[in-house]
Amino acid sequence: MQDYDAQFKNLAEDAPFEQSPVMPNMLEGDAEIQFRCHRGVKCWNVCCSNIDITLTPYDVLRLKNHLNISSGEFLKQYTMPYEIDKDGMPGIKLRPVEGGSACQFMVEEGCSVYQDRPTACRYYPVALLSIRRADEYTDRQAYALVTEKTCLGHQEDRKLTIDQYRAEQGVADYDEKGRGWRQLVLKRKSAGPGVGKPPAISNQLFFMASYDLDRFRAFVVSESFNRTYDVPVETMAEIVADDEKLLEFSHKFLLQILFNEGKVVEEKEGAYEARMERLKAKAEQMRAEFEADREKLEDLKYSGECQPGDLSCGGND
Ligand code: SF4
Ligand code: SF4
Repeated sequence: MQDYDAQFKNLAEDAPFEQSPVMPNMLEGDAEIQFRCHRGVKCWNVCCSNIDITLTPYDVLRLKNHLNISSGEFLKQYTMPYEIDKDGMPGIKLRPVEGGSACQFMVEEGCSVYQDRPTACRYYPVALLSIRRADEYTDRQAYALVTEKTCLGHQEDRKLTIDQYRAEQGVADYDEKGRGWRQLVLKRKSAGPGVGKPPAISNQLFFMASYDLDRFRAFVVSESFNRTYDVPVETMAEIVADDEKLLEFSHKFLLQILFNEGKVVEEKEGAYEARMERLKAKAEQMRAEFEADREKLEDLKYSGECQPGDLSCGGND
């Protein structure tokens, strides 16, 4: 029998282009890796000096609470936006220091937010892959090993399984609380071209409910939200008091609003009609304003007064 694995490995190693540090082999949790990172390694802080760290909503929650700032402040100071897919699904990454590539949280001793460091930092050098086959309803976790030459932890004399490494790095909580959001992302990615490009407003809602939790909370308790939706009193009390409950609610809310799946809030009777009335009134107001502007322009045109930039007026010389 041919050794396809070996051939595939050679193919990757012989590639005429620079190899991706993520080896294209999927690993299960019981796969053994050789790795140890500690203050004594020669490459200490090398990985945090040149970052490309994608953040999950739960990462934002942990970090903003660690820093004791609002989600809005956190997003402004520590993140930069990127698009997860070609339809502009909003994602965020850690913003490096001004004019450099190092993480803003890196200090000589290591990571200044260590106990609340993001999921990607905990996993490194393992990469978490969320995959879902077309015939499966939920996603499965698989892993890949990132082997960058600059990371000398792979040369350390310690072997352990990926599951042991995950336990050591405390990722279980992060995996659990990030699952709802990962499934939303997978769902949007696999929605297919038939669904069409989502309107900008749905990307804005996705961004707010995913990352800007404090603003999302204000939105949920706002009068306009409660005019439209019925939120059970107990749910409202929980999400006002508890960030993690709010995050859970936000995933379910996005699932309901963007995919019409599940029902975390009931739309109030007559809310749809009221919304349509408001939209109609708004459209009417815009039309009236447009008409008024147009009439004003017509008046000016026949008044003979020259307006700045009006080329039809001609010059005085
Ligand atoms: S958050 Fe901490 S571990 Fe992650 S890149 Fe920044 S300094 Fe490194
Ligand atoms: S061993 Fe790897 S993970 Fe640890 S500091 Fe060095 S580069 Fe970073």
